[in-house]
Amino acid sequence: DQHQTDEPVTTICPYCGVGCGIQVQQGDDPGDVQFMPWGDAPVNEGRICIKGGAATEVVDHEDRLTDPLIKDDSGEFREATWDECYEFIVDELERIRAAYGPDAVGFFGSSKTMNEENYLLQKIARRYGTNNVDNCTRMCHASTVWALRTSLGAGAMTNSMADLRAETDVFWIQGANPGEQHPIANSQYFRQAVLDGATVIQVDPHANKTTRSFQIDETDRHMHLQLNPGTDVPLLNIVLKTVLENDWIDDEFIAERTEGFEHLRETLAEFDKAAAAEECGVPLADIELAAEKYATAENAAIFTGMGMSQHRCGVDNVQNEINLALITGNLGRPGTGVNPLRGQNNVQGTCDVGAMPNVLPGYQLVDDDEARERVEEEWGFDIPDEPGLTNVEISHEFGDGIRGLYVMGENPIMSEPDANRVAERMEELEFMVVQDIFPTETAEYADVILPATTWAERGGTVTNTDRRVQRMRGVERVHENTKHDLEILSEVGTRLFGAAGFDFDTPEAVFEELRQVCPSYHGMTYDLLGEEGLHWPCYELGDEGDPYLYEEDFDTESGLGHIEGVSHTPPAETPDEDYPLILTTGRLEEHYNTGTMSRRSSTLNRQTPENFVDVHPADAERYGIEDGQAVTLTSRRGEITVEAKVTDDTKEGVVWTTPHFAAASANKLTNDVLDDRAKIPEYKAAAAEIEVA
Ligand code: SF4
Repeated sequence: DQHQTDEPVTTICPYCGVGCGIQVQQGDDPGDVQFMPWGDAPVNEGRICIKGGAATEVVDHEDRLTDPLIKDDSGEFREATWDECYEFIVDELERIRAAYGPDAVGFFGSSKTMNEENYLLQKIARRYGTNNVDNCTRMCHASTVWALRTSLGAGAMTNSMADLRAETDVFWIQGANPGEQHPIANSQYFRQAVLDGATVIQVDPHANKTTRSFQIDETDRHMHLQLNPGTDVPLLNIVLKTVLENDWIDDEFIAERTEGFEHLRETLAEFDKAAAAEECGVPLADIELAAEKYATAENAAIFTGMGMSQHRCGVDNVQNEINLALITGNLGRPGTGVNPLRGQNNVQGTCDVGAMPNVLPGYQLVDDDEARERVEEEWGFDIPDEPGLTNVEISHEFGDGIRGLYVMGENPIMSEPDANRVAERMEELEFMVVQDIFPTETAEYADVILPATTWAERGGTVTNTDRRVQRMRGVERVHENTKHDLEILSEVGTRLFGAAGFDFDTPEAVFEELRQVCPSYHGMTYDLLGEEGLHWPCYELGDEGDPYLYEEDFDTESGLGHIEGVSHTPPAETPDEDYPLILTTGRLEEHYNTGTMSRRSSTLNRQTPENFVDVHPADAERYGIEDGQAVTLTSRRGEITVEAKVTDDTKEGVVWTTPHFAAASANKLTNDVLDDRAKIPEYKAAAAEIEVA
């Protein structure tokens, strides 16, 4: 998969979960790696957004890590040999295991790395003796995966973008901002469908590029329900009750394919729609009209994003979307479904291959004896039978239960909520390895830094937001002394446990093993993936994959879709005298998560070089804030100073900012309270105060 030629190679954009195909080409100098469009790319047909077009800018950036580093006794990093680093890592991991047991180490995989790499990392964790392995999906869609897996069967998009564009009459987009975060999906699929006559209902506290992209003409084909942060359950309960009152349900579908309908009816029996609409801050008539549009459409599809998932009631939020789809029969056929828009180019695959504390590859539960024993037989060693700790639980334990941390391609100091506390606790770790392409904010706290190659220099597979597994291919390595993530993990695994089962020469060799233990990938090979990729599940060789799921049965134990009424759990923090505003967060088109790559792209950074906060004009007047003025935004956990943008994109009483910028990240303010089941933090609502800086 690594090409030592100057021919362009086809690969996948390293940014969002849409999984656009692009080409990269190397000039005479290995550092000269150029982006080229790929006209026949299966998902995007040659189109690309600003991030994809700028992706090669970081490949030869001057900040690249080029040699392994070890922190010396004075706290400074010095260059070291690979051999020295490997020995240090093995010695420290063995010392910690001997002193505290295997559960004293946590392993963070990453959705910026490929299926094969995450597969090998989680296998190392399990052979080491712990299920403390997780990845950044915990921060974005853990609650969505939980709700979809338990109520329908698979923690993934039920449908695919192509069938939705062709068949959907109404798009219900709640808590997602594809206009900025999935621009090609938004323009090529959703907006195109609206131009062709479909309707879109957007439910979001913030007006954004998605809102503006659908304001196409004078028709009523776009509605924006601008609710208060954290009121998604009441809003959907109004929709559900309206559907029941008007008998817009699909009786046959409910009778034959679902369970739990009576529970939903009972939950809503005393529900007061008018009071709930007041709480949501949206006129009741608008919500009722939206309910009618969705429920009376021939095919209606729900899209869900982090505005839904990143709440302490994230599982409930998504369950209510599932309830709506099930009672109206909008599942199991083209143009329908409940569809999470995933953030990173491999966020789906990282979970599929088992880099999670409760599941093995293919979502086989670690505490399901039969499933675990099947994998144990394949791997040849015992796997711990209790779920491990999740990302945020691991960082809550730094210095106590957790003494060592292995981080591949993650930046938890920026990505986790209550970032100041994460940094304080990280100081308490006895040993940390960071494997990355840049010296991240987290790497400053490491004992060993291992320089990895970028996405454009190596091969493997990634799985996009609609379950399409696609191959990535790389050009020649730019810096001689860097290594592919897989090479590093193979060496660490081999030195820890011996070559058998850990010494892999190629990503394809890992994929061949992975497909033996991951049932939904079993029917895939590199050759069969070809240029188009395949939508999982492919259970047997020759399976063509499923563009939509659940045509017959759901993948639950009963084969039925699970309906369950849910009640409102407000955010853990609501405004009070000291912190009278609600802070909510979101992302920008031109930046990407913790900004490790996008802040180093001159094209992207030029668009928005610094963080800012959206303030409603009425709040600006109340606090004496002028547009463009520096303000200090404070929560119970910290403060940041940013420029104020006075705009009615946000609601009165709500301030909106982003997590991309190290100097003033939203995550210094966000709340690390977790959803009980999925353990996802409540990034989307915290009490805050603002003043002129
Ligand atoms: Fe890359 Fe996503 Fe943009 Fe496509 S839409 S080019 S995958 S960032």
